[in-house]
Amino acid sequence: MSAYDDLMAFQRETEALGEVAGRLGWDQETVMPRGAADQRAEEMGALESVLHARRTDPRVGDWLAAIDDAGLPPVGQAHLRHIRRSYTRATRLPDDLSAALARITSRAQGIWAEARTDEDVAHFLPTLTEVLRLKREEAAALADGGDLYDALMDDYEPGATAAEIGGMFDRMRPRLVMLRERVMGSTTSPARLTGHFPEAGQLALAREIAGHYGYNWAHGRLDKAVHPFSSGSGHDVRITTRVDENDPFNCLYSTIHEVGHACYEQTIDNAYLLTPLGRGVSMGVHESQSRIYENQLGRSRAFTGFLFDRMRAQFGDAGAADADAFYAAVNRVHAGFIRTEADEVHYNLHIMMRFDLERQLIAGTLEVADLEEAWNQRFERDFGVAVDKPSNGVLQDVHWSCGLFGYFPTYTLGNVYAGCLYQAMRAAVPGLDADLAKGTLDGATEWLGRSVQQHGGLYEPRAVIERACGFAPNEGPLLDYLDAKFEALYGL
Ligand code: ZN
Repeated sequence: MSAYDDLMAFQRETEALGEVAGRLGWDQETVMPRGAADQRAEEMGALESVLHARRTDPRVGDWLAAIDDAGLPPVGQAHLRHIRRSYTRATRLPDDLSAALARITSRAQGIWAEARTDEDVAHFLPTLTEVLRLKREEAAALADGGDLYDALMDDYEPGATAAEIGGMFDRMRPRLVMLRERVMGSTTSPARLTGHFPEAGQLALAREIAGHYGYNWAHGRLDKAVHPFSSGSGHDVRITTRVDENDPFNCLYSTIHEVGHACYEQTIDNAYLLTPLGRGVSMGVHESQSRIYENQLGRSRAFTGFLFDRMRAQFGDAGAADADAFYAAVNRVHAGFIRTEADEVHYNLHIMMRFDLERQLIAGTLEVADLEEAWNQRFERDFGVAVDKPSNGVLQDVHWSCGLFGYFPTYTLGNVYAGCLYQAMRAAVPGLDADLAKGTLDGATEWLGRSVQQHGGLYEPRAVIERACGFAPNEGPLLDYLDAKFEALYGL
């Protein structure tokens, strides 16, 4: 056995154990008995220490030193790129820092939830201060003299830099703010759906639509969770959804979003199973798949025409007079405080605000004590309304309590990538709208599967999008798509 073979055999077991840890997480969010929480924390902690020991095992360092990457075929080189990156990150972090972060972030989520319920920012600030202190320490260890925020972001979007993303966001923001103001100032105001939509019907429709998108039920399942997510890779990729009986779009579009994530995982080349290439390559590329399934395809005029018929078949009166009213209801723009409920026009403004604030927190130019005021000022500037309470403002997202600094920008990066992919797909897939109007997504999903999803971690994130589109990813296609869609919908 060569060093490469030894390393890959060792890595395969690490990947398998990582999948087990992920499945324990899935279980915890779906079917675990409530009384099992403490025991589960210990089980996960034990598995995490096994994983950490494997990721920092000195033998990995020895194998990596013995392998000449240049002598490997492209797939082998890609494996080594992932393993080297992960080993360098894992070995740069002192063990006691990782343990301290794990402890504080698991407690911080509970404290954040209490603070949000009680509308009490002050209750959360000492904990957030401690999380931030440890994350800055982690960033300094990982950055090795480089930019702190870049070092954190590298975990979610390898190769991306805050300077580059910040430049792109600065170019996007004026156009989004202008579109938002034009839409909100228009005299058109589409009605939302009203009515009662029983859970059983919503879940049946969600399953049916997941099937249309090509979700493979032999290798997946759908359960309910408080916050929808998808979980797993390879032959076991599960999705979750939630149901609001007054708002059928919540369940439907959460499901389509997670189906996008799950189909990416399910479509990765089988040869990469339980290897570093057998997972989506970055959070941004992952989000591009969930967003294009949800928005560019799922909220299109053509596909909503098909959905309108399916809604009426499932619920009788769907609450919209005709397919055009239904399309307008699906895409209704509304000024709201909450990121996860935001429409396509508002969504990226939420992300840009969080990106700027967390960059300042990590850089040390914004104090945790001043965060709420900074949030509220910025929100009023970009959204035109004043935040009324902390749960609608600085306390709305779980991310910072989990220590997920550097994660937010990948949401908008995913939207930007989705915009690029959609432009390329429209050129590459003839008769797309006619297919969507019939509920046929095969042409679109086959193109995404072939151009993006099958490659898994083979190419770097930006490179896989560029290869698929034939041009360097940029914000233009997304902004053009949003302008055209909402100008037509709102008669601007
Ligand atoms: Zn997502």
